[in-house]
Amino acid sequence: ESFADAKLPEQVLECCKGFTKPSPIQARAWPFLLDGRDFIGIAATGSGKTLAFGVPAVMHVLSKRKGKMAKGRRPLCLVLSPTRELAQQISDVLVGAGKASGVKSVCVYGGTPKEPQRASMKSGVDFVIGTPGRLKDLIEEGVCRLNEVAFVVLDEADRMLDMGFEPEVRSILSSTCSVRQTVMFSATWPLPVHQLAQEFMDPHPIKV
Ligand code: AMP
Repeated sequence: ESFADAKLPEQVLECCKGFTKPSPIQARAWPFLLDGRDFIGIAATGSGKTLAFGVPAVMHVLSKRKGKMAKGRRPLCLVLSPTRELAQQISDVLVGAGKASGVKSVCVYGGTPKEPQRASMKSGVDFVIGTPGRLKDLIEEGVCRLNEVAFVVLDEADRMLDMGFEPEVRSILSSTCSVRQTVMFSATWPLPVHQLAQEFMDPHPIKV
C-alpha cells in the first residue's frame, strides 16, 4: 500500500513524489500490470487511473529496450482515448512519468494538422497516445506502425464506443502485436464494452 511496496525503480517513482501513497486503483492495478496480466479497471476520472496504467507502461518500455533507448525506435505502448482533451491530459502525465527514464511519446488527434504528428512519429517514439480517428489515418498512411506494440490501454472504453469509434478501435487493435498485454479502463460496463474485452483480451482478465 506504499510506493516502496511497489518495488519500482527510483526514476519511475519520480512522477509520484508529490503523493503520499498509491491511490486505491494504483495499488490494485500495479501488481497485475507489472506481472503482465490483462486488466479491466472500472474507474472514473479522478481515481488516479492514468498513473495506474502509466507507471506499468513505462516499466514495459524499460524492459523491452533494456536501457538502450535507440534512435528510430518503433512504438511499444499505445493508449487510446475518446477525446483530444483526454489524450492530451494522458500524454502530459505519461511524459512526466517517462521523463526520468528517457521515454519518448507522441500524442495524435484530429482537428489539427497532421504534419507535426507525422514528424514526431518518424523521429521515433516509445508511446503513442491518440484518438481513434486520427490514429487510424496515420496507420493507413504507413506513418504509424504498431506491430511492436505489446502494451495497449483503452481508456474510457465505454465513451469511446458511445462516440461510435468501435470500427476504428477494432482495426487499431488488430494492427498491434498479437501477443500483447491489453488494459481497459471504463466508467461503466455495458454489453458492447464487455464484448470488446472478450474479443481482444485474455479469456480471464483481472477485473476490479
Ligand atoms: P486521473 O484519475 O489519472 O485523471 O488522476 C486524477 C488526479 O489525481 C490527478 O490530478 C493526479 O495528479 C492525482 N493523483 C494521481 N495519483 C495520485 C496519488 N497516488 N495520490 C494522490 N493524487 C494522485
